[in-house]
Amino acid sequence: MKNLDKYENKSICQECGGLCCKISGCAYTPSDFPELSMEYIESLLDSGRISIVADMSFQIQKFNISLNFILLLQARNINRGEIDLLSLTTPCSMLTDKGCAYNIENRPNEGVHLIPEKNHECISDLDIDTEMSKWLPYQEILAKIIEKRTGLTVMEKLRSDAYEMYYNLAIDNIKDVHPKALELFYDLQPYYDFFFAMEKEEALKKASQLKRG
Ligand code: SF4
Ligand code: SF4
Repeated sequence: MKNLDKYENKSICQECGGLCCKISGCAYTPSDFPELSMEYIESLLDSGRISIVADMSFQIQKFNISLNFILLLQARNINRGEIDLLSLTTPCSMLTDKGCAYNIENRPNEGVHLIPEKNHECISDLDIDTEMSKWLPYQEILAKIIEKRTGLTVMEKLRSDAYEMYYNLAIDNIKDVHPKALELFYDLQPYYDFFFAMEKEEALKKASQLKRG
């Protein structure tokens, strides 16, 4: 068994109250699982503890911005579904009053590798880009599961999630969202607005109709 002692400091995390876990659930990497067949991944979704999410990034070139994303598995956030590609993130559903419901051996890799610091500005010793790239061989299988379980392609599901995200924001349905998660959203909002302009417009229209009664 690996020695994971350096990654756990319950007193620092207790004092902090689990900020990292309140922003969002942490990411798994493929090595967290004994296998990643379609049946196995679907059984993970059925457990209610794991979601398929999209790690989004934006690339700015001269006159263009491009959207890239990697599909992966993550600890499920509260009140979020099994396919949760884009949302205002809510706290991890595995966070309890006593900290993470998982012991360190069973915790998602991203959560294990975040080293607790006294100032609670904790830094991971994982190279997150390298870890995310380990999901690349599973993109097709994850996309198939998304289509099977939602009836939507990945891009359609992303657009539908974007619409829901803007709508929730417009009607202030954000009570579960930690202020730090909102701050992270606002950092990326210009990019989201650029890519999902139509969804934003429709969501705002629907929200204003609701407000007018
Ligand atoms: S790892 Fe850092 S941010 Fe997360 S609960 Fe511990 S001290 Fe807080
Ligand atoms: S699985 Fe555990 S460590 Fe990871 S975000 Fe959830 S509560 Fe935190």
